[in-house]
Amino acid sequence: SHRINLGPLVGAIDQGTSSTRFLVFNSKTAELLSHHQVEIKQLFPKEGWVEEDPKEILQSVYECIERACEKLTQLNIDVSNIKAVGVTNQRETTVVWDKLTGEPLYNAIVWLDLRTQSTIEHLIDKTPSRDKNHLRHKTGLPLSTYFSAVKLRWLLDNVEEVQQAVASHRAMFGTIDSWLIWCLTGGKSDGIHCTDVTNASRTMLFNIHTMAWDADLCKYFGVPMHILPKVRSSSEIYGLLKAGALTGIPISGCLGDQSAALVGQMCFQDGSVKNTYGTGCFLLRNTGTRPVMSNNGLLTTVAYKMGRDKPTYYALEGSVAIAGAVVRWLQDNLGIISSSHELEMLAGSVGTSYGCYFVPAFSGLYAPYWEPSARGIICGLTQFTNKRHLSFAALEAVCFQTREILDAMNQDSGIPLTQLQVDGGMTTNKLLMQLQADILCISVVKPSMPETTALGAAMAAGAAEGVMVWSLEPEDLSTVTSERFDPQIKLEESEFRYARWKEAVKRSMNWET
Ligand code: ADP
Repeated sequence: SHRINLGPLVGAIDQGTSSTRFLVFNSKTAELLSHHQVEIKQLFPKEGWVEEDPKEILQSVYECIERACEKLTQLNIDVSNIKAVGVTNQRETTVVWDKLTGEPLYNAIVWLDLRTQSTIEHLIDKTPSRDKNHLRHKTGLPLSTYFSAVKLRWLLDNVEEVQQAVASHRAMFGTIDSWLIWCLTGGKSDGIHCTDVTNASRTMLFNIHTMAWDADLCKYFGVPMHILPKVRSSSEIYGLLKAGALTGIPISGCLGDQSAALVGQMCFQDGSVKNTYGTGCFLLRNTGTRPVMSNNGLLTTVAYKMGRDKPTYYALEGSVAIAGAVVRWLQDNLGIISSSHELEMLAGSVGTSYGCYFVPAFSGLYAPYWEPSARGIICGLTQFTNKRHLSFAALEAVCFQTREILDAMNQDSGIPLTQLQVDGGMTTNKLLMQLQADILCISVVKPSMPETTALGAAMAAGAAEGVMVWSLEPEDLSTVTSERFDPQIKLEESEFRYARWKEAVKRSMNWET
């Protein structure tokens, strides 16, 4: 049969909280040619605990690569045209493994996990003025259950296999990017132990000014530095794949998922913003080559560094723990919907929560509050309330939480945003997008190619020195279309509902004491 030659292609491994994907892009047009997706099991062994199996995650990557390559072959496109592969991943999620056996020594502790709440409270109590921002000047982050260092501390304190492996210098620590790159480049036989600057900046062990692991931070958390991966830029050759049809191809891009989405949305200008709606919700604003500290509860994080000799770009970030996760909760825990599609239908059929407000503070509240003791509440219920209203309230909660971080962002920068660029799994929900425009009172713009996170990783991989030139130019993007949602309700109504939401948030605070 006739082979189609599209020129060089680039692959992206997108390992998210709820699923893994492998995608193949045309490096000239950014067209998505083939992809495959596999769901990941989330384990909730105790209240507040969230784990995933690192081997299941790795297996899902192999499966996605294999199936996406098969689909490519079916399209008569030669798999050997893939010239580079990028990795993007759920951030902060923590793995420790044994470098001699290649085996994980415990499940991955997922970013949402709350088991370290008491440790965090203890650490904050020990600071001079009970200040959760004690380490912010170096890390850009508040003391929170969210980041890797404290999860790693828990593993060091509680898992005997980890303690033994550390003592005998066999332990390796990594976020999901490190775990995957190590395994995919050979694992126990010569695997490369590295991470990129964006992922490192979410551990709380990394100094975002010197751009290196920080001995004082490591001492603070009691983390031995010999278990840490080498920190590299987001775009360079880390090693060569040893994985089926892709064996020998360089892994040459690595970005935490939110950084990758920022790149995939082409937010390269100082001041450009994107918001991603997945398991959680993450709004990032590029602040150029200068780290900006927030006065309103946002994080300062590394946005990207596109090559060893390239400058570091920073971002301000508003993180919301629970967005799409609330949909899963209504489905799996309450059983009142059977799919996210049904949620959209139910909510759309009433078009109002009828005064019901749902604060899904399942993992405490992240930005702008950083309050681990908050817990979820549903308030304003009457005899009249039904699952349609509850579904609507769940979607509205995602929009209100975004409004809170956007308000914080506007206050920090002094320049109100006039429209919001969005992406992520939840943005297929048109009702959600319209609600978001209504609650923000600005337009919401969504690219028609929704896989911006994977695209960002592919761009980093393709642009790496010594690989190829990612040839995407702005004119190539003239074919990129987007969908736009304009506000349709009155400002007063929007303000009224937002004020009620704020009341509900107050009631969710300091519940777990
Ligand atoms: P992640 O990268 O965190 O794994 P994704 O971007 O893949 O997340 O988005 C998946 C999340 O989006 C899930 O939590 C799912 O419940 C939610 N989701 C997907 N489609 C819809 C929809 N139509 N309406 C509401 N939520 C949705």
